Amino acid sequence: MTSPIVRFAPSPTGRLHVGNVRTALINWLFAHSRGGKFILRIDDTDLERSTKEYEDALRTDLTWLGLTWDSTFSQSHRFKDYDAAAARLKDMGLLYPCYESADELERKRKIALSRGRPPVYDRAALKLMDEEKAKLEADGVKPHWRFKLSGERVEWNDLVRGPQSIDTSSLSDPILIREDGSYLYTMPSVVDDIDAGITHVVRGEDHVTNSGAQIEIFMALGGKAPEMAHTPLLIGADGQGLSKRLGSLSMTELRQQGYEPMSICSLLAKIGTSDNVEARSTLAELCAEFDFAKIGRAPARFDEQELKNLNAAILHALPFEAVKDRLAAVDARAADEAFWNAVRANCSLLPDVAEWVETVFGDIAPIVAGEDKDFVAEAAALLPDGAITGETWSAWTNAVKDKTGRKGRGLFMTLRKALTGQEHGPDMGAILPLIGRDRVLKRLGA
Ligand code: GLU
Repeated sequence: MTSPIVRFAPSPTGRLHVGNVRTALINWLFAHSRGGKFILRIDDTDLERSTKEYEDALRTDLTWLGLTWDSTFSQSHRFKDYDAAAARLKDMGLLYPCYESADELERKRKIALSRGRPPVYDRAALKLMDEEKAKLEADGVKPHWRFKLSGERVEWNDLVRGPQSIDTSSLSDPILIREDGSYLYTMPSVVDDIDAGITHVVRGEDHVTNSGAQIEIFMALGGKAPEMAHTPLLIGADGQGLSKRLGSLSMTELRQQGYEPMSICSLLAKIGTSDNVEARSTLAELCAEFDFAKIGRAPARFDEQELKNLNAAILHALPFEAVKDRLAAVDARAADEAFWNAVRANCSLLPDVAEWVETVFGDIAPIVAGEDKDFVAEAAALLPDGAITGETWSAWTNAVKDKTGRKGRGLFMTLRKALTGQEHGPDMGAILPLIGRDRVLKRLGA
């Protein structure tokens, strides 16, 4: 197979969320696993709803995720090409003017349904004589334009869904151009895909029906259609659609919460596939494992808890150098290699370090039960002299054990609660040197 050229085509009308990022990721992984190219196309033909702010944000989000593009262009710069394509379709008799108002179409739809017929556009406009059209236009009625489907079956072998067959006689001829002359998404997408040499159209399965019409437009304008892959949609852990929660699942939001890009990519690359969901530290690893054949047909389950678990796993493996600046942004005291190495196993999200900064360096409230007071004072007296190092904790607790006879929980948990004010936390051996002699003694009440 020659190297694929794919595109991700978001509309800059909102923030990128886990659903569209999954589409971007699958395109990116496919292209990069085959030495291909990944194009970012901005679908901004809807000039009213598209904003520069959303466009900038989606570029920022993709860059943050590592999903960089080989080239990019915006549909709003290509209206001339769409006009040319529309003119060609009109010449071929495949794009015809219709004059029905929205109300009229709705009435026709209801009548069809009440007679038990599918609500398919009846092509009445095709029967209009030239004089009738001229009269309508003279009356100021502006046409919208429909693509004339063949009425045959359109078939393709979908890389995810297998053999597909869409009976275009069961579809309404799609409107390509609105009354005001603006383009709907359907035709510009095809024109762009042809001009960009797109070899594979990879997108969500909500576009399967579009593909029926678009393949016919591809055939009319370019002679052949690209390969197609339609991936099942995402659902939440509760089995419900994600649409209502997508705002909180935007990349902007997840980034602000402190998620690592690779935990998002690790999860989105694997849910709904036959591979296990596991943390991966590079996109290259995900590329090596990518295969359309692994993507199943059932909806892919997106579970935020699973994302958090992956994030924790990724943080545990992140070296200090990789997080230094972000730690400093949370708290200057967190930007310390020994501190990071001590606490990273206890963080699900990087900002969780703030809690451990307090535990280690802050003013904590030691927990010492009444009956432990003497024990804790005795332990304080046994703290080895000299600098506190990585070995101090075990040497010290051995000495305390020998002297007091306490062991297990009664020894370790009592000291942990006195020294950190908590029952759980990072390895005491690793944080003791960071807490330091003065704070250790103070917390022990010595
Ligand atoms: N802008 C379209 C969408 O976001 C692109 C669909 C496609 O990939 O063809 O749904």
